[in-house]
Amino acid sequence: MEWLYLVIGIAVVAVVVVLGGIGLVRGRGREAGPVEAPRATPTDVLAPPEAGIEGVLEPEAPEAPDVVAAPTLERPERPASRLVRLRQRLAGSGTLGRGLLGLLSREQLDEDTWEAIEDLLLGADIGVQPTHELVERLRTRLRVEGGVAADARTVLREELINLVDPSMDRSLHVSGADGNPGVVLVVGVNGTGKTTTVGKIARILVAEERTVLLAAADTFRAAAADQLSTWGERVGVEVVRGPEAGDPASVAFDAVKQGVDRGIDTVVVDTAGRLQNKQGLMDELGKVKRVIEKQSPVTEVLLVLDATTGQNGLIQAKVFAEVVDVTGIALTKLDGSAKGGIVVAVQRQLGVPVKLVGLGEGPDDLAPFDAAAFVDALLS
Ligand code: GDP
Repeated sequence: MEWLYLVIGIAVVAVVVVLGGIGLVRGRGREAGPVEAPRATPTDVLAPPEAGIEGVLEPEAPEAPDVVAAPTLERPERPASRLVRLRQRLAGSGTLGRGLLGLLSREQLDEDTWEAIEDLLLGADIGVQPTHELVERLRTRLRVEGGVAADARTVLREELINLVDPSMDRSLHVSGADGNPGVVLVVGVNGTGKTTTVGKIARILVAEERTVLLAAADTFRAAAADQLSTWGERVGVEVVRGPEAGDPASVAFDAVKQGVDRGIDTVVVDTAGRLQNKQGLMDELGKVKRVIEKQSPVTEVLLVLDATTGQNGLIQAKVFAEVVDVTGIALTKLDGSAKGGIVVAVQRQLGVPVKLVGLGEGPDDLAPFDAAAFVDALLS
């Protein structure tokens, strides 16, 4: 019997040990708090998805890793076709063209009609002298050649093109000599669209596959440098900036020096155009130009003029032309002006060609000026 008690004893001990073990496991689990879901290890994510369970559940698509997208640079429009595309933007062009053609196709070209023609031309800001010249030319030619409607249109077109002067060199001088960069100095009164025009020019140059550097030498307005940086970022052009209210000439100097050192094709310099007295303007712009030319000659001095300012704009233009040797004009906001005739007036006043026209706020709304395309837009 003793062996029987021994076996029972061992069995009891064994049961106690097993039950105790289970209790320990449970107790440990509780002590560990709520059971966390097992974390997916990296291998879980990368493991090839198992075939859908029994073909019913599709495997979850692995999450796409975070990829920082490389900034995509804009590809600006090439300038060739811009004036044609922007033709309809010449606000009021229809009014002038249709008005002139309507008057010239009257059966009787009497004095009243010629007066009405003069008024239309003066109203479009062509200027007094050019208006008289044009009317005289039209009178002579239509008298001699006979004024049937179709001819009137041809004669008017030819005479308007002559007035705009197709013989002027309208190329923008953006190339330097002897391996130096071309330097375009952009001047004009604030608010005329200077900074915007610098940005748009940078886009044209990039579209022509030139290397470009911009100089934010309008240090009086922090916003101007920011604005320029935004233009630059969009097409991948660097902007040289200086401290706010710093010396504009030193920013221009730095930029042109970098342009020379780095073999850049064109440096475009944005300047401040505060309406101050002529002496102040002369000191400021004169210094910027002199300092730049310690590095490399300025190849183009582009005056930005707001077409909507009419006579006021012409007076400003004159002041700037006396301060720096303006070599070209960028006429902005022609989309907002019914006074396309200012092209003629400003060229006459300064003896300098309009090289570019701004026809909107969009990045590619700047076009090289072309006399025939412009007159065709006026007469369309
Ligand atoms: P800045 O002070 O001379 O540098 O002038 P901004 O470049 O800051 O331009 C002044 C304002 O004119 C901005 O609102 C431009 O978007 C606007 N602007 C510039 N060029 C044109 C243009 O050709 N057409 C129109 N409609 N607006 C323009």
